[in-house]
Amino acid sequence: MIYQRSSALFAEAEKYIPGGVNSPVRAFKSVGGTPVFIERAKGAYLYDADGNRLIDYIASWGPMILGHAHEPVIRAVTEKAEKGTSFGMPTETETEIARLAVSMVPNIDKIRFVNSGTEACMSAVRLARGYTDREKIIKFSGCYHGHSDAFLIQAGSGAVTFGSPNSPGVTQGTAKDTLLATYNDLESVKALFEANKNEIAAIIIEPVAGNMGCILPAEGFLQGLRSLCDQYGALLIFDEVMTGFRLARGGAQEVFDIKADIVTFGKVIGGGLPVGAFASRNEIMNHLAPLGPVYQAGTLSGNPLAMSAGLAMLSELNNSPEIFKSLEEKTEYLHKGIARVLTKHGITHRINRMGSMISIHFTDKEVKDFTSSATGNNDSFKKFFHGMLNEGIHLPPSAFESWFLNDALSYEDLDFTINAVDKIAMSL
Ligand code: PLP
Repeated sequence: MIYQRSSALFAEAEKYIPGGVNSPVRAFKSVGGTPVFIERAKGAYLYDADGNRLIDYIASWGPMILGHAHEPVIRAVTEKAEKGTSFGMPTETETEIARLAVSMVPNIDKIRFVNSGTEACMSAVRLARGYTDREKIIKFSGCYHGHSDAFLIQAGSGAVTFGSPNSPGVTQGTAKDTLLATYNDLESVKALFEANKNEIAAIIIEPVAGNMGCILPAEGFLQGLRSLCDQYGALLIFDEVMTGFRLARGGAQEVFDIKADIVTFGKVIGGGLPVGAFASRNEIMNHLAPLGPVYQAGTLSGNPLAMSAGLAMLSELNNSPEIFKSLEEKTEYLHKGIARVLTKHGITHRINRMGSMISIHFTDKEVKDFTSSATGNNDSFKKFFHGMLNEGIHLPPSAFESWFLNDALSYEDLDFTINAVDKIAMSL
């Protein structure tokens, strides 16, 4: 495949946009080369500026679970746009999507919409602090909850990819209130609670991590966090920005049958437009302004276009829950096919998978936390990534990112992908 025009467009972008991109991981820095510039997308495919067709396993980093330019979503947005793009006053669509989300997700009474996953997690933590009157939070190394200051402490994916897990610009004062635990290690969490009695407002966690590759919670881990939160009077925040409306209608809470106190959303909930949300039971949500003292706001929050895209997306998922099963079956098929081929070529690897999230690690270690994820051989990943791109397959350009499958992928696409791995495996 030729990526000439993309390279030229990137060179031009670099003149005016820092690093040529508006979100760092897009820049291909950890794998080398220049990013592919996309012109349009439909279903499982991206069409780039050089006229290449690529099979997409990024799904815009999660939102496009039904494939690109999904007809009902496009129709909803187009019809809405005709009526105006933003009013700064309430619309009925906001209530419609809120009602639907509350009916799909367990343990929530109310939901507030914002513009990104970052905002959702930032607001959830503020709410937890306001509700508990405590200041510290626990997060896990390698988990990413957006780019707000409190979370840029050993954050996964983008931050790790660039070798700066702790970003300059985050003050010591902020950093000291974020306590770090190890994913899948309950003892590390318990030790923090013991050392900070009555000071911890909340634990925030990706219930299935997707920002250090895809990492599954060990048996009993999430339940253990629930018990520790109950024991020490802290709230449990599930960051379901990736897992929400992707693993199941009710997200990870439903899959693992664990009650979180606050849940955050992003990605799928906006149908590809900029949306985030956070939700909880009445008792906690009533602390938010204008009902309560915890302030949170947004000029474009609940934007009519974004809400209509999200509503169309959630309606489809709600009406056709078999989509989740179909996605899981496709992901399992891909997993087995790639594992078969890599094993045939004698390539050491681990594949982690949950629902339609999957990642490949070139390591012989079990990948269960940030440290083990970082044992992956990045040279092999780079070759794998570029080999696959050359075959017309678009993967996340970092070993620390999960792939997201979309339901428009056909079994022919999956076979094509597995064959591509077979073709390039010799060079890894
Ligand atoms: N939380 C998780 C688990 C994420 O994966 C992300 C983004 O990838 C975020 C929060 C931040 O969302 P956004 O990029 O929409 O701000």
